[in-house]
Amino acid sequence: MGYRRTLRKAVGCTGIGLHSGRPVRLDLKPAPAEHGIRFRRTDLDVEIPATLDHLARLDHATTLARDGVSVDTVEHLLSALLALGVDDVLVEVDSPEIPVLDGSASPFVILIHEAGLKPHNAARRALRILKTVEVKQGGKWARLSPSDHFRVSYAIGFDHPLLRHQAASFRVTPESFVEQIAPARTFGFLREVETLRRSGLALGGSLENAVVIGETGVLNSNLRFEDEFVRHKILDAIGDLALLGHPLVGHLEAEKAGHAVHTALARKLLATPEAWTLAAFPSLPAFDLPQAGSLAIEPA
Ligand SMILES: [Zn+2]
Repeated sequence: MGYRRTLRKAVGCTGIGLHSGRPVRLDLKPAPAEHGIRFRRTDLDVEIPATLDHLARLDHATTLARDGVSVDTVEHLLSALLALGVDDVLVEVDSPEIPVLDGSASPFVILIHEAGLKPHNAARRALRILKTVEVKQGGKWARLSPSDHFRVSYAIGFDHPLLRHQAASFRVTPESFVEQIAPARTFGFLREVETLRRSGLALGGSLENAVVIGETGVLNSNLRFEDEFVRHKILDAIGDLALLGHPLVGHLEAEKAGHAVHTALARKLLATPEAWTLAAFPSLPAFDLPQAGSLAIEPA
């Protein structure tokens, strides 16, 4: 049987918000068993549980809100917390957006590794998929089906010569997450940057924290993986599924989806009680984390 886990000690960092461009201090703090993942805006003294009940905006990032107070762009941090098996943690920020850092989840992996993990004397339960649940929105879809492990298979396609089709599938373990998924950065199209900025989005975006796709190639000096784009979508999807509040045992398949489809699927799953059960989590190493030192990043 697995045990719920929290951080061994508090850790933190500073950065800027991808969309707001505002500076932010982030602190991850140990929390008691069954606390779950909760965000706290220290500037306003409001706490927001990371659950589907607190979903707000879903355009370009996942935003949680409570009583008119929000925390934006939670998905990359949530992805790292879920994949590394951090069940109980208090996430404090002094501004409305989680820092983007390098646009991937690797900096959060390094923070969690620095904190270390501590087991609680409480059983860890997983949400095990029993029946397939699917959501379709136009040409976008996502589906959760039974599997004996957590796997994400994703396909993307854009009206752009560089990104007509990309697909990847990973069994999500702490090891595969750290090595294959976490380093994949946020991406965007140069042609959309002006429109985003006029809507108050991507104000903190730069080549330091996003892969920018121009008409003939990426503007950054290199990619971390040849298929970095679809790997980032997998990273985002894991973060959105963290809002289920439990680790998952099942297979997520998705095509051309995004935060709205991922979270609609999560809601549909919870609204379909015969499609899942809470079961003892299959064995996961109780204390070990992959070494963050192995995050050496090479172009594919
Ligand atoms: Zn993302």
